[in-house]
Amino acid sequence: MQALTTGASHLACFDIDAPQTLNHLMKSRTPDFPAPLDAEKRKAIRPVVCYPVDQLQVAPLELYFRARKNFELVESLEVPPREARTFEIPAGHFFRIVCVDGPQVGDLNLWQAENLKERFYSGKTRALHGTHLSTGDRLWSGFPYLRPLATITADTLDWYGFDEFGAGVHDVIGTRCDPYTSFLLNQTQYHHCCHSNLIRSLAQKTGLSKAEIEADVHDVLNVFMCTGFLQDTHQYFMKASPVRPGDYLEFFAEVNLLGALSACPGGDCGSEHSSDSSTCYPLRVEHYRPTNDELTKVGWRSPSINGYDRSHGMGN
Ligand SMILES: [Zn+2]
Repeated sequence: MQALTTGASHLACFDIDAPQTLNHLMKSRTPDFPAPLDAEKRKAIRPVVCYPVDQLQVAPLELYFRARKNFELVESLEVPPREARTFEIPAGHFFRIVCVDGPQVGDLNLWQAENLKERFYSGKTRALHGTHLSTGDRLWSGFPYLRPLATITADTLDWYGFDEFGAGVHDVIGTRCDPYTSFLLNQTQYHHCCHSNLIRSLAQKTGLSKAEIEADVHDVLNVFMCTGFLQDTHQYFMKASPVRPGDYLEFFAEVNLLGALSACPGGDCGSEHSSDSSTCYPLRVEHYRPTNDELTKVGWRSPSINGYDRSHGMGN
């Protein structure tokens, strides 16, 4: 009864234009509803992993390590600060995202090169591998494909692990900085958020208009970004990236890839993004080709698309 009264009083004084209190924006610290008698018992239930990966075929890292021995640099591409660039990597090749002049975060999009509808699915990648990626983790495509687009084969920041704030590097939590959220929160018109940078670069690559291409830009892998969730409100936070010139994240291309990388306007993302106020640096994408026959020797092929029959209980 008390809950109803409290709720009603909220409604009575609710002003649609007034910002809600922090207590109600964040998971409530002053709940409207009383805890049941067995609340502690219910909370004490131990968690189980949503998607145990014991049955998931692990990436054949040893094979990839052999394949990259003496690999040769094919092409090197510089991504200017607050801009994005596209690049193509054939299946069976490698690429690195390299920190060059100073600490800089990159927002990465990946598509299957011949079919932009097959694109990186950060949410399911997070569900399978956790909030932050490193060596051995794979970047999965969305439905109905759901197969690895790329596998991480080296991460010079893997020493970081998780710090005392619960932060790690290379997250699949954040979406990408974008002008819509920026407008929502600050009423600004800023055109160099990663979302817009990725749109410009993809439009230039495909010749399609920004309107046609916008929905193909998707949630990213936040390369080099150091993030976590606050312990009290569980809000997404960022802190200055530990990346330094020479650090890199290396990928094996499981399929023919089209990639786009944005050098985030947040720079090292130690203070803010979605503005020109942070110091930003370029990033480099390096494309490497294997020089041995390790992959062909074992008959390596791109992973097949997902085996679900897509009938969805409706027959064929
Ligand atoms: Zn960004």
